[in-house]
Amino acid sequence: MKSRTGLGARLLAAFLVIAGLPALAGFFGWFELRDVTQAQQQLYDRSIPVLSDMRRFTEESSAIITVAPELAAVDDEAARRDRAAYLGARVAALSDHLSRFQAEHGGGSGGELTRAVVAMEAGIAELDRLVKQRLSLVQARREGLDRALGATSALLNMADTLVANAEMSTAAVISNLYDDDTGSAQHLATLDKLIEVDLFELGLMFELRSRTAEIGLLFNRIAGLSDAAGLVPIRATLGERTEIVARRVAAIRDPGRAAQAQTLLGTILSLSDPAGPGGLLGLTEGILELDGRIESAQAALRVSADGLHVAVTDLASRVQAEAQRAGAASLEVIRATRLRSAGAAGLALLLSLAVLWFYVRGNISRRLDNLSDMMTRLAAGQLDMRVAPRGNDEIAGMERAVEVFRRQAIANRTLEEARRRNEEELARHRNALQELVAEKTEALRGEVEAHAVARQKAEAADRAKSEFLAMMSHEIRTPMNGVLGMLRTLSAEGLPDAQLEQLRAARASGESLLTILNDILSYSKTELSGAHLERVVFSVAEVMQVIVTLLDPGAREKGIVLWLDLPEDAPAAVMGDMAKLRQILFNLVSNAVKFTEEGEVVLRLRVRAAGAGRVTLILEVSDTGKGISAQARQRIFEAFEQEDGLTARRYGGTGLGLAICRKFAEVMGGALSVESTPHVGSVFTFMADFELADPALLAESVPEWTPERAGRSLHALIVEDHSVNQMVARSYLERMGHTAVCVDSGEDALDLLKRERFDLVLMDVNLPGLSGTDATRRLRGLPEGQDLPVIGISAHVQEEEVAQQLDAGMDCFVAKPVSPERLAAAIAQVTGGQRRGVFLSPRSVSLPMGGARDGLGAMLADLGPEQTAAAIRLYLDGVGEEARALAAAVDAEDAAGVAKVAHRMKGAAGNFSLPGLSAGLRALEEAARAGDAGAMRGAMAAVPAEIAAARATLLRAADGLADQSKVAVNT
Ligand code: ADP
Repeated sequence: MKSRTGLGARLLAAFLVIAGLPALAGFFGWFELRDVTQAQQQLYDRSIPVLSDMRRFTEESSAIITVAPELAAVDDEAARRDRAAYLGARVAALSDHLSRFQAEHGGGSGGELTRAVVAMEAGIAELDRLVKQRLSLVQARREGLDRALGATSALLNMADTLVANAEMSTAAVISNLYDDDTGSAQHLATLDKLIEVDLFELGLMFELRSRTAEIGLLFNRIAGLSDAAGLVPIRATLGERTEIVARRVAAIRDPGRAAQAQTLLGTILSLSDPAGPGGLLGLTEGILELDGRIESAQAALRVSADGLHVAVTDLASRVQAEAQRAGAASLEVIRATRLRSAGAAGLALLLSLAVLWFYVRGNISRRLDNLSDMMTRLAAGQLDMRVAPRGNDEIAGMERAVEVFRRQAIANRTLEEARRRNEEELARHRNALQELVAEKTEALRGEVEAHAVARQKAEAADRAKSEFLAMMSHEIRTPMNGVLGMLRTLSAEGLPDAQLEQLRAARASGESLLTILNDILSYSKTELSGAHLERVVFSVAEVMQVIVTLLDPGAREKGIVLWLDLPEDAPAAVMGDMAKLRQILFNLVSNAVKFTEEGEVVLRLRVRAAGAGRVTLILEVSDTGKGISAQARQRIFEAFEQEDGLTARRYGGTGLGLAICRKFAEVMGGALSVESTPHVGSVFTFMADFELADPALLAESVPEWTPERAGRSLHALIVEDHSVNQMVARSYLERMGHTAVCVDSGEDALDLLKRERFDLVLMDVNLPGLSGTDATRRLRGLPEGQDLPVIGISAHVQEEEVAQQLDAGMDCFVAKPVSPERLAAAIAQVTGGQRRGVFLSPRSVSLPMGGARDGLGAMLADLGPEQTAAAIRLYLDGVGEEARALAAAVDAEDAAGVAKVAHRMKGAAGNFSLPGLSAGLRALEEAARAGDAGAMRGAMAAVPAEIAAARATLLRAADGLADQSKVAVNT
């Protein structure tokens, strides 16, 4: 099996190649450059010490060359030793340095150097030797010269003496001549002697002195000579002069002097002898020769130093050449490395491009391009190109998927074509059918028209019947309501028993007559407008719940259990005619309760799907009642049909309920059926389809509803801001068989009226915010309030005030505290169509609890002990809070606030006949309305004590009531 390599892994491999090759090239380049760096470092380590050695060689040799002439020029032994020692030390140091250098750099590196150093060593020794020799010759010459000059000087002195002597003898002769006669022999002899002896002698001595002086000068010149050529004339002159002197010394006549002069002459002759061993000429010649040799030695030394320089320079050149070679080699390596790196980078680039081109492009991007191209074509409807998957990777997966899509698209296209053909076929058939139908229709039209005429006639008759029924029932119902109202009023009047019984029978008959009238009315209404179907969004569960809530109290009274069975899949919201459904369910469940004496009644819902967006609701009402015989089961759905006469007698009724239900069921497109077993029970089943609806569209609250069949009782709205008053009014109404809803303000009332249908409004005149008067005016402006009976209630009963209320739109007026009789009379009047009645007369009832508790006694008679106790509790719960609000308003001197609260509290106190508290509150209200703060405070002072007294009275009464209700339960 081929291993599956993912695109991710392949892209990673490509990336590794693309990124890895340059990295590898860089890595190798780094290695090569590291070698070059090491070679450069070695070169540096080797050449720098060699160059410093070279410098030291040169320095040493320069020192030697500088000091060597000093050695050559020394003129005493100590200086010579000093210079010689210094030069010896330098040469030794140079030699030492050389040996170390050779040891470090190998013998081969310094052959020239060694030779030069050895030559310098020898040159220094030679120079020293020659200088030493010259020093000894110079010393010998100095001593010889001293002796020669001493002998010359002594001989010169002697010659001077001999000259002087000769001069004196000459002078004596001359003077003798002056004494002798001229021409005498004596005179002539003396003259002869003078000429032959004395003048000759004088001449010889003169010559001896001058030649000796010359010899002294020549000796001095010898000492100053600097080259050998000067010696030759001196040597000749000196020989000549010494010969003359020797001859003149021989002429000295004085023997003593002559001997002395011969000794001196001998010294002079030995020192001036050129061939003699101590001769000054020979010594000077030796010195001058040594000078020449010293000069040569120095020259040789310089040559050696030059040799050393040359050797050092050679070595330096070699080192330099070596460094240059190494540098050149490094450059070569670097150049090679650069070339290699560039090559490697180029190669890496080429390889990367190759990977991109052959691998990434070939394997991935070109295939993706192809795929995208394919998909674009597919989207454009070109389905002829097959997609062949390559390999086993993700793209291949996509290619396979695209191929699947392509095939599906081909299949869809084929299907689409088939469907179009079918549709065309269908259209042809439909046209044919339509033609057929048109023909048939034409044929039938005649028949239908005939039938239509007949039906219209029948319908007109039926309609006339229904209209008559509706009109009659309506016309009868209005006075009937008045009769019943009067009967209810009468029932509380405390008649004797027999009359009370008659009254009760009259009331029952009236009520059942009213029921019949209501049924007839709603049935005829159904006949007249039943085909009209309303569509609202509603919750079926909520509708069922309302029915159960309404009928449960009646069921309980009979000891029957009323169950509601809702399935979990009950739809949250459906769309349909909620009112009709509700009426059907109410009729069915109230029948079930009515015809069941024991056991249970169940209202059950079952839900079944009924196609797109629709459900079938199956509503069953089962009971364990008397059941219906098989013969009666179809009949009972007809109007005015009951099972039998016995049922009619025993249970009353009109036989219209089920007829209405079936009518509604038909209008709703549903069905109503019954299954029943006599003496076991019945099951009525209503079934209809409803559209499913969005629960968000449900009305916020299902308006309260009073079933048509319960039409005899009114649905009243009590507008009253005090809870106790609300409770009292509601209790009165409920005891009269009506239902009531309480609101606290005129605004709320107007609001509620728009949403809920009422038969009657009890409107307190003094309300917080919008007054009852204004609220009534506005109510009359509403469409639903135009004909609505409104009964005004107030403690202010002055004529103008009452007239003002009636003018504002109230139908009649009842004074507070309200009594049930006055209320019933007012209701009877307004529902009977009369207006502007005013009910002010105080009620007079028996007082079972004694005169001290008048108000409570009346309330007890009207409400019964439990309700009265509840009213007391309600009052006591609220009175503390009210009293605090009142005190705060008085403190703040808020006259309007004081008036409002005092008025409200006064009304509540009036319900319980608390005359002290009522009077206190009235005084406070009057002071507040007069705006008198002082009077307000004065009146307020009495109120707390009155409240405490009222509280004590009411608590006692409540205790008494509790006992009474226990007794009532026990009996
Ligand atoms: P009404 O209840 O006013 O008589 P209906 O049309 O509601 O009129 O009922 C017609 C008759 O059907 C009743 O009189 C009664 O005999 C019979 N009926 C209706 N519901 C039941 C029930 N749940 N059990 C027994 N009988 C019933």
